[in-house]
Amino acid sequence: MNDTICAISTALGVGAISIIKISGKEAISIVDKIFSGDIVNANSHTIHYGFIKDQEEIIDEVLVSVMKSPKTFTREDVVEINCHGGIATTNKVLETLLLNGCRLAEPGEFTKRAFLNGRINLMEAEAVMDLINGKTEEARKIAVSQLSGQGSKLISNLRSDLVKIISNIEVNIDYPEYNDIYEVTLNDIKEKIDYFRDSLTKIIHEYENSKILTEGIKTVIIGRPNVGKSSILNKLLDTNKAIVTDIPGTTRDIVEGSISFNGILLNIIDTAGIRETDDIVEKIGVERSLSKIDEADLVLVILNNNEDLLQEDLDILDKTKNKPSIVVINKSDLTNKIDLSKLNNREVIYTNTIDLNGIDSLKEKISTMFKLEEIKKKDYNYITNARQIAKIKECLKHINDVKESLSNDIPLDIIEIDLREIWNILGEIIGESYTEELLDELFSKFCVGK
Ligand code: GDP
Repeated sequence: MNDTICAISTALGVGAISIIKISGKEAISIVDKIFSGDIVNANSHTIHYGFIKDQEEIIDEVLVSVMKSPKTFTREDVVEINCHGGIATTNKVLETLLLNGCRLAEPGEFTKRAFLNGRINLMEAEAVMDLINGKTEEARKIAVSQLSGQGSKLISNLRSDLVKIISNIEVNIDYPEYNDIYEVTLNDIKEKIDYFRDSLTKIIHEYENSKILTEGIKTVIIGRPNVGKSSILNKLLDTNKAIVTDIPGTTRDIVEGSISFNGILLNIIDTAGIRETDDIVEKIGVERSLSKIDEADLVLVILNNNEDLLQEDLDILDKTKNKPSIVVINKSDLTNKIDLSKLNNREVIYTNTIDLNGIDSLKEKISTMFKLEEIKKKDYNYITNARQIAKIKECLKHINDVKESLSNDIPLDIIEIDLREIWNILGEIIGESYTEELLDELFSKFCVGK
């Protein structure tokens, strides 16, 4: 952390402006060497106009922002060069910085420094990444809530409650002769442990519910060839991504696409049509389609209104009967030939992709099925990060161990070991305790320049 790092913070490509960020003890002096103006004596949080030069050669006309430690993202001196966008110019400015004493930042290194210098905790650092990677409005709101420290407050509070119990137990064990010390009873611990378990279980439940806000609904479209799967996918996506033909078996592999629908991502997979076939390529496609049913959050079973139900349709209906699924009877513009009594009372939606009848009802049905309006009405104070959730699940395991020990009258000093472990794991969530490996692994997922 003693060296000064630099990186291009904007996406590399042609654009109006590129930003190159520099952070570290020598950020100001290094930029001063290559900048036409004087920034060594500049006030903090000021912007300066001038030129970046390589010896006498002018590289670009720029604006340079000077932000002095400690009121910066990394808590180090930070300089940002706004140069003209364009790969050649941006790279040349970066190269000049490297030649003058900067080191190229590793992915996420600015955020890692912000964490190591105490500017943000680990949950907030992860929220920065979630904010950058978030694909929907809902994912953005959750990340912003985490960034403002909502989730970490929750974990910190549980942790300080826990430390009180642990210290009480220790005092009781170490100084049994003092009568004026409050003696912790097993009942006290039991009450607290139940409270921890309820709080953490609530976080897991909310995570399960809100997962679709951040990750979207994995939707599989399945049905016999030619029933209109690709047409429905295209109408939902509003593009012509899947190939629509009237030759059965054209969608031989899996076509994917996403729509942001009411702020939720619908990740749609169109599959090869299900039919008995000897064609090897098509056969593999059919097998892959069937296997996709198991992975899906939602299955759209498409039937052709204009054809009798065949054995393949009945097989698909049977295979999806216990999955969240919607039976869509397509080609409603043509004569009905489907015997509804064979559908085992499954609710159906009629669609016709030619004049779009029913496509809105299909979207509405998905919305009510996943209670999207209800989920969205809640606040956005969810913990959604997979690493943090895995740690919370680990805590819950130890909490169950403590509960078991309590009911088996295990001595307090043994119970304390588990309590300490829970305290440690909660610390790992917010980054009070961490390993180098964890930091390397976590920040390597960031983009360079953040
Ligand atoms: P897939 O094999 O299930 O993906 O089916 P496609 O989407 O490729 O459609 C097969 C054929 O059915 C194409 O000729 C489409 O134009 C036609 N088709 C799709 N939807 C409808 C519909 O709602 N009504 C009618 N009449 N034809 C449709």
